Amino acid sequence: MKEYKKRIAVFLVILSLAAFSGCDFISKETPVNVQSIASQPSIETSDNANSASDTNTKQNTETEKETDKNTSDKNRKESDEDKNKVTGLTLDVTELTLEVGQSALPKVTVEPSDAENKNEIWESSDKNIADVNSNGVIEAFSPGKCVVTVTSEDNPSVSAAVNVTVKEIEKTKVSEISVSFTEATLKVGESVMPVVTMSPSNADTLQEEWTSNNETVATVDKYGNITAHSEGSCTVTVTSVSNKSVKKNIKIIVESNETANQGIKPIVTDATYINGILVVNKSYGLPSDYNPGGLTWECAEAFEALRQGAAEDGINIYLSSGFRSYETQNQLYNSYVNLYGKETADTFSARPGHSEHQTGLAIDCNIVNDSFIGTPEAVWLEEHCYEYGFIIRYPQGKESITGYKYEPWHIRYLGVETAQDVYYSGLMLEEYLGIDSVYSY
Ligand SMILES: [Zn+2]
Repeated sequence: MKEYKKRIAVFLVILSLAAFSGCDFISKETPVNVQSIASQPSIETSDNANSASDTNTKQNTETEKETDKNTSDKNRKESDEDKNKVTGLTLDVTELTLEVGQSALPKVTVEPSDAENKNEIWESSDKNIADVNSNGVIEAFSPGKCVVTVTSEDNPSVSAAVNVTVKEIEKTKVSEISVSFTEATLKVGESVMPVVTMSPSNADTLQEEWTSNNETVATVDKYGNITAHSEGSCTVTVTSVSNKSVKKNIKIIVESNETANQGIKPIVTDATYINGILVVNKSYGLPSDYNPGGLTWECAEAFEALRQGAAEDGINIYLSSGFRSYETQNQLYNSYVNLYGKETADTFSARPGHSEHQTGLAIDCNIVNDSFIGTPEAVWLEEHCYEYGFIIRYPQGKESITGYKYEPWHIRYLGVETAQDVYYSGLMLEEYLGIDSVYSY
């Protein structure tokens, strides 16, 4: 009897410890998912056993005896084994979201901590979505949902589970490209490389794709090294490989290299004067170094007089474009060629060396486009500019001779005497001088 009571007491202590730890486990750590709930019956069994035994101790020895009779041997056996039997399993996560290719190792807590057989059995409800190895490493294979369960080898009624969601690898696309410069002027043979920044920086690929729309002018390699080959302009474009709609253009202007001027442009060494008039048209060009540095003093003074004269008539004339250097015209013309093609560009923009603006004797007034045609200012210029020494250089109806469309805004300084002469002759400058205006190249 003494021996029996002692054994019962030990049994109760074990059961109450198990029950206590089980309750603690339920209230604090039980993950809220189906699989964990499934493990509760074993705990409840402990609880029931505990309360039953508790009742037993308060009741008569007959019952105790009965209990002893029925379960004595079994209890003794279980009591020794239960001492280290697994009663609970918990995972530190109940939900896991992984991208295809990712893996995770959930942390397992075995109760009691001194359980003899802590071996775990891992299983996935769908190995194609995510599989788990014997150590609990979960690996995601394809998009979908599955449940990974860990079961105690020692006590198969104890298990825990984690719901695994596998997603397609999220690709972050490049949304913006910035370049260290968007325009560069190079000499033939020179190279340059813009610094490219793609954002966001965690995009799946920051790879760049480079193209030049005119490889005769400049080429670009896969790293963005731009090399100038011949005079002209072109556009170099960098595109994001990850998102082809994201691109940035870099305008490249290639100037002739003085020592290696092999472009299509013939070298003009001298300005041409006919009857004392500096002539610049498609037939006659200026050398690239012809540079008065701005409007000539006479031209600027005459324009000021014209402006005041117009103002007295209630007409507002202002300068829109005066002197343009060879380099400026080169850039301007090439940009038009780039946009409209050479044939069209030649109808309204002079090739470098062939612009009257390089003489410092030509001015574009007011609005430099067709909307200026017929305005009171255009009419006033037509009727009065000769009084101040200017002519309308590209009159209406003379396109075939001048080679340019009607430009009522473009006036050319000839000095009052010559301008009056030309005006009263009813001729335009080429007719007046008996010359043509045709490119020889
Ligand atoms: Zn002009």
